[in-house]
Amino acid sequence: MNDHLTPDDHIAVVDRWSARNYHPLPVVLSHGEGAWMTDLRGRRYLDLLAGYSALNFGHRHPALVAAATAQLDRLTLTGRAFHHDQFGPFCQELAELTGTEMVLPANSGAEAVESALKIARKWAYQVKGVPDGAAEIVVAGDNFHGRTTTIVSFSTDPEARDGFGPFTPGFRVAPYGDIDALRAAVNGNTAAVLLEPIQGEAGVVVPPKGYLAEVRQLCDDSGVLFVADEVQSGLARTGATLALDHEGVRADLYALGKALGGGILPVSAVVGRADVIGVLRPGEHGSTFGGNPMACAVGRAVVRLLATGEFQERSRELGAYLQARLSELAGVAEVQGRGLWASVRIAGGGRSGREISGALLERGVLCKDYHSSLRVAPPLVITRDEIDFGVEALAAVLA
Ligand SMILES: *Cc1c(COP(=O)(O)O)cnc(C)c1O
Repeated sequence: MNDHLTPDDHIAVVDRWSARNYHPLPVVLSHGEGAWMTDLRGRRYLDLLAGYSALNFGHRHPALVAAATAQLDRLTLTGRAFHHDQFGPFCQELAELTGTEMVLPANSGAEAVESALKIARKWAYQVKGVPDGAAEIVVAGDNFHGRTTTIVSFSTDPEARDGFGPFTPGFRVAPYGDIDALRAAVNGNTAAVLLEPIQGEAGVVVPPKGYLAEVRQLCDDSGVLFVADEVQSGLARTGATLALDHEGVRADLYALGKALGGGILPVSAVVGRADVIGVLRPGEHGSTFGGNPMACAVGRAVVRLLATGEFQERSRELGAYLQARLSELAGVAEVQGRGLWASVRIAGGGRSGREISGALLERGVLCKDYHSSLRVAPPLVITRDEIDFGVEALAAVLA
């Protein structure tokens, strides 16, 4: 009976039956292809959000749809109690792509981060010799690592935290980009430093030049793990396979997610050093859906796309073009970011980010506002002409 709803009906049903933890723009989408989505009225929209970077390869990339469809016809789920023929190849291919040694599969980004935190704590007790229960993890101010109780325990955003305590202890916060503050927060009980190499939800914040290399040095000097949350910055979004690659820096553990599922399924993983992930023994950690055949088949197809280097190159080249064009717009106060990932701060006076994203919607462009800025992170399959279409729509809205 719900199959013939108008767009307004759909929104009313959502208002009545869905939890209110999002405030979507008033558009009801039904199809997607490449960098475009189509709504129920048949209107097309350029997607400048790309599912928060879960859609790096665009909507329904043919190679990803083919891999998912083929796997649907073979085997979808086994549980990790048994081996299946997609799992080993997925782990090996993902490790080889990222230059790492071992893979722990999971589903959501938050689950990958949680898993990395557990590994770091266990490593601190078993290898570093931290007294039982005393391990600490140092994180950055304005971090975003997901929404679980433990992860919001070390958020500095009151909206993410308020009303959700009591919180998990064992975290220290140092301002992002400040190496002296980070050094002061590290002590003999520190298991790990957990950072986003570029902070996504904080506004696509690129840290000062040299900071990430200094973090690596600090971790080496202090016997502390460097855990990089590349759930959003990774997998070609910034113009490199991993955002840390730009700095020539290696982390001990990486959390990956979002684009790893090709916009089809939730697929995440912790990848990194075998002697660190290797602290986990049978029974100590797990996930019913982690590493399932569908996830591995799609993840392998994602790895194959990334191994060509084409998406990294598109993000580098088109990203420079996008950032330059956005910076020239009247009404834009500041553009920051890297590759096809930009935060556009709208000059003061007048309309809220929400009003601007609403006006963009009217012009066929889907974009997410965040405080008084817009997040621009299109699928990496976007073309130069499509970038022009999006930038010109923004220019018209800001005029
Ligand atoms: C989105 C995100 C997460 C959480 O991923 P979910 O799949 O939403 O749980 C974690 N870390 C970063 C940096 C992210 O951008």
